Amino acid sequence: MTDMNAKDPAGTPDLDAVVIGAGFSGLYMLHRLRNVMGLSARIFEAGGGVGGTWYWNRYPGARSDSDSYIYCYSFDRDLWQKWEWSERYPEQHEMRAYLEHVADRHDLERDIRLDTTVTAATFDERTDHWTVTTDGGDSVTARYLIGAVGSLSAFNTPDFPGIESFAGDSYHTGRWPHEGVDFTGKRVGVIGTGASAVQAIPLIAQQASELTVFQRTANYIVPARNGPVDPELTRARKADYDGIWQRVRESNFGFELTFLEKGALDTPQDELERELQVRWDEGGFGIWLGAYADQFFVEEANAKVREFLHKRIREKADDPQTAELLIPKGHPFGCKRNPLDSGYYETFNLDHVHLVDVKSNPLAAITRQGVRLQDGTEYELDAIVYATGFDAMTGPLTAIDIRGRGGERLAEKWAEGPRTYLGLTSAGFPNLFMITGPQSPSVLSNMPVSIEQHVEFVSRIIADMRGRGADTIEATREAEDAWVAHNQELAEGTLFPTADTWYMGANIPGKPRVFMPNLDFVGPYRAKCDEIADSGYPGFEFTGAATEARR
Ligand code: NAP
Repeated sequence: MTDMNAKDPAGTPDLDAVVIGAGFSGLYMLHRLRNVMGLSARIFEAGGGVGGTWYWNRYPGARSDSDSYIYCYSFDRDLWQKWEWSERYPEQHEMRAYLEHVADRHDLERDIRLDTTVTAATFDERTDHWTVTTDGGDSVTARYLIGAVGSLSAFNTPDFPGIESFAGDSYHTGRWPHEGVDFTGKRVGVIGTGASAVQAIPLIAQQASELTVFQRTANYIVPARNGPVDPELTRARKADYDGIWQRVRESNFGFELTFLEKGALDTPQDELERELQVRWDEGGFGIWLGAYADQFFVEEANAKVREFLHKRIREKADDPQTAELLIPKGHPFGCKRNPLDSGYYETFNLDHVHLVDVKSNPLAAITRQGVRLQDGTEYELDAIVYATGFDAMTGPLTAIDIRGRGGERLAEKWAEGPRTYLGLTSAGFPNLFMITGPQSPSVLSNMPVSIEQHVEFVSRIIADMRGRGADTIEATREAEDAWVAHNQELAEGTLFPTADTWYMGANIPGKPRVFMPNLDFVGPYRAKCDEIADSGYPGFEFTGAATEARR
């Protein structure tokens, strides 16, 4: 009789590692595994090219919201010194060119299978290997499985009644046609006012004959101030590679930003307005992540910052009624990801651009002609742009049929919200690592900084496993429960849970309402991971011949 628990002595997998996704995370992970550690590894990538987010999001105006000099890899110092960004915030095609160049420079393409979606991954307890299956019918085994799937890659189109009946053209910002779209002379409707819409709307307005924006929730939108970077500043930055990267790695959010020492509540009104104005004028996330810490914890502090922002919106919008509609209501500033603005508010001053409130009068159906609201009002459109976001953080992983020990499905395990240890591993799923997974700082940071930290941490874990002769590493249920509780506790101490956001899963009907990013902050979280590795991996269990022999 076969002992189902016995290990397969012939257990040599096809590959050491499979990586899912060829975006920022996957490319660096492959580089580390193959070029640095000498392991065999392969990426499966659903897109027809590398770049992840920057491959798919080709809508007009798509660009990074982080400054180019830190929205990139630091691991390749020479490339960082040589690469010239054209603007403060690189545009999508420039980001894609950069990532394609990285893939080429590090000879990664030969181990990337494009146009290949991973549909399932199953852990085999007999061999301690993952079997990874793709939509092309391929099946490979690997010892390590790395989900480099991105936090915002599972695009979401709400299930509007009649959506298939629309006779015009439909687009989603997260799956934009590669050849681009010409809206010249068209009546265009944009549904959504998140970061994607805020970037796209000013440019669509330049072409469309009529543009109608359907807004459910107004956002706090702060100026980007994009443009070429002063060459002197670029030179100074190039001379300060070590300082910059040390600062961002030790920072709260992966930027060169720190909170002011005083809180908004302790600051006299004129000083507060001055400080906020400086950051408003500088553009970027300074007003959010580099101003008053108490705005995240205390409603009255947040209200003081909001008041400043409301004034700025009223200054920008010519029509007082439109201004009132553009002023966010019912959620604190900074607890819903605030987009960066390049002419967004001013776009609503144009005669052919209309803002429609679909909070008070919800969007009831998509019709053959366009959009119908609950009160029966109809908007005739030639094209609809769904800027309706993503099933964030958990969606890209739960879309894959991932099964761990005992056939447990990750999607079922996470039915009430993600359960991880460090946002990197999940108990019952040995040797599965999630780059910037839920319950890690991820989306509350400048992503490349968190990505590099996770990739390097996973590389260290794998090297340490091999060093100690371990076949598997796995989070314990106790460590995971404690991490889940820790994340919840951190979030409950802030105003974040008071807002309906994709951070909370609130944008997807039926998704559990759980705050998903980790709030330890980038620097302390990194230190925590390092400490765990330095002290022999508390919270993890190892299996393997050598490990068991040592017991
Ligand atoms: P999003 O922020 O989730 O925005 C989706 C929009 O669609 C929201 O305004 C939402 O309204 C609306 N919506 C969804 N379902 C709706 C419905 N049934 N009826 C009416 N309106 C509906 O998505 P996103 O703009 O694609 O951005 C997602 C995230 O991606 C950003 O927060 C950011 O982290 C990232 N991103 C980054 C950049 C960048 O760095 N440059 C650019 C784009 C995106 P509610 O607010 O009421 O839910």
